[in-house]
Amino acid sequence: MSLRVQKFGGTSVGTPERVRRVAERIAKAYRAGHSLVVVVSAMGHTTDELIDLAHQVSKNPSHREMDMLLTAGERISMALLSMALEDCKVPAISLTGSQTGIITDPSHRRARIRRILGSRVRAALEEKKVVIVAGFQGVSENKEITTLGRGGSDTSAVALAVAVGADLCEIFTDVDGVYTADPRCVPQAKLWKKIPQDLMVELATRGAGVLHPRSVELAKQFNIPLFVKNSLKEESEGTAVVSRSDLQKGSSKASAKESRKVESERGMEEFQVAGVTADLSKILIRIELTRPTTLPSLWEAAAKNHLSVIAPFFADGKVSFFSDRDGLVEWHKNLEHLSLSGFVDSYKIEKDWVPLSIVGDRFSQDGAALAQVIEVLGRENIVPLLGTSSSLALTMAVRSDQADEGVRLLHREFLEGQKDG
Ligand code: ADP
Ligand code: ASP
Ligand code: MG
Repeated sequence: MSLRVQKFGGTSVGTPERVRRVAERIAKAYRAGHSLVVVVSAMGHTTDELIDLAHQVSKNPSHREMDMLLTAGERISMALLSMALEDCKVPAISLTGSQTGIITDPSHRRARIRRILGSRVRAALEEKKVVIVAGFQGVSENKEITTLGRGGSDTSAVALAVAVGADLCEIFTDVDGVYTADPRCVPQAKLWKKIPQDLMVELATRGAGVLHPRSVELAKQFNIPLFVKNSLKEESEGTAVVSRSDLQKGSSKASAKESRKVESERGMEEFQVAGVTADLSKILIRIELTRPTTLPSLWEAAAKNHLSVIAPFFADGKVSFFSDRDGLVEWHKNLEHLSLSGFVDSYKIEKDWVPLSIVGDRFSQDGAALAQVIEVLGRENIVPLLGTSSSLALTMAVRSDQADEGVRLLHREFLEGQKDG
């Protein structure tokens, strides 16, 4: 019997009925003999509502108090789930991030996990209890409550799987698994049975919100078997996020042969698109530095607040990159300060430009992928402002009101009419 970490997202515990349903699902796994650590998110839109509430009482709420407030969301759902489990006659205990010993750095709102002590988790597992842990939160060395950034419960789950030595980590959500594009934007998107970890890192980093990027990084680094499944479907097999070498394992010889044939139809060494994604939670920042050597001061400012720097492009003393929309105030402050200190000549924060990306293999061997992308988007008058590419991803800036259309166009061009992955 295995030790499993299971995580249930906001929609999955969005109503009292759903909490009971989740409890029944956990009870089944418990009765089948598994040891379980369960991570929960706040119910439904609780986190958004709490943020809204904060802005009703303060123009610029402090990050410390914001963390105190937001962690309350996960506290509610963990306690309710524990109660519902007791009703199913399953012994359970709920623990906050701090009680679990999830030690983070002191960076409020975007803290990173340093280590997990987990002694109370281990003790409760010994007592045959299901341990419910509040997602998205931790505590700093100086005992301040912190949060891990929006969507961070996935990262709590995988980090816990590492800490307790779990056999696997299951992320239960409101779709069947990972698709070739957000199925809410592209109904024709195809479900991945298995997706390689490196491509999942790229997809998540560039906006595929189904997994928090840091959770996939951890799963890749510590080789944690990671599954994404639908919380409402009992028999959903979902998507397994696996290493490249595990990709062919378990599939029949015939299907492995078939997938190689599909690849070779495009040409074995041609670029392959595995997914398309856009990210409306990002903004584009364009900066002219006073001298190229002032770049480190800029990255230091971003690193201090753990503000993301996605697809950076640097040339002739100019730098552009995408970062978090919810970091707008911090970026303004940082860039004003850097301007006054003589590091930055001028800057523009473009709120209406967001990243649109294709993820796959072999994008940087020549300009073919970029050429085809520009051509396809151009047919519908979508003109990217700029673009950067690595071998696994190609990212462009497009207008936010054209991002969904861009995703649909690129998906149709590269991913429709192919066989299942
Ligand atoms: P949870 O509350 O369970 O953490 P999220 O809303 O964070 O759920 O993530 C699930 C959502 O991710 C789905 O409802 C879907 O709209 C979105 N999504 C974006 N890109 C993808 C993708 N490539 N595959 C699956 N879902 C995706
Ligand atoms: N409740 C938090 C959020 O809405 C964390 C999570 O859902 O993972 O961002
Ligand atoms: Mg999520």
